[in-house]
Amino acid sequence: MNSHHQKILIITAPSGAGKTSITHHLMHHFSILSFSVSATTRNARCNEKDGVDYYFLSDEEFKKKIQLKEFAEWEMVYEGKYYGTLKSELKRIWGLGKVPVLDIDVKGALHVQQQYPENTMSLFIEPPSVEELKKRLISRGTENEDSLNARVNKASYEIGFKDHFDKVIVNDNLENACMKALSIVEEFLKS
Ligand code: 5GP
Repeated sequence: MNSHHQKILIITAPSGAGKTSITHHLMHHFSILSFSVSATTRNARCNEKDGVDYYFLSDEEFKKKIQLKEFAEWEMVYEGKYYGTLKSELKRIWGLGKVPVLDIDVKGALHVQQQYPENTMSLFIEPPSVEELKKRLISRGTENEDSLNARVNKASYEIGFKDHFDKVIVNDNLENACMKALSIVEEFLKS
């Protein structure tokens, strides 16, 4: 029998690389995977629920948890907005006999890997090019010129870290990228 003892699956990518679609695909396919709900200080969007999409915390609550060392990792992902993986969330999922899936930014992913080097698999989703990523962000229509440039610059910086991760999948075609991710995760869960 395979042991899923304290395994962690990390999925990371620059914004707009298709990380969320690939994560959903994997979660749908492997029932042993359980989404790790992060804590954040950003406001909930209208369709988001506390404890389901995120644990929405005030700045004070978040900082208190930093002091108490309750996070496996935390980052200020966007200006003034904190995001972090609670150790209690990993324990909750392991307690269910499942494998947590962390959909987190590149720096956070590096920290989790350092802290939990055993039984952790990290997948970096790479956009086919920075130009393509820019086109995708423009067509998504969520950015103004400044935030678009900030995301594109951040993406170029983050792509520089890709070799730090266990596997890199270039998302030039979502279907192919999902298939590659499935076979990588299948191997990881078997190990
Ligand atoms: P959003 O605000 O759009 O939900 O997420 C913004 C970014 O924060 C995404 O790239 C997401 O992967 C990242 N993120 C979400 N949760 C965490 C976390 O717990 N830690 C870190 N480091 N990044 C996170």
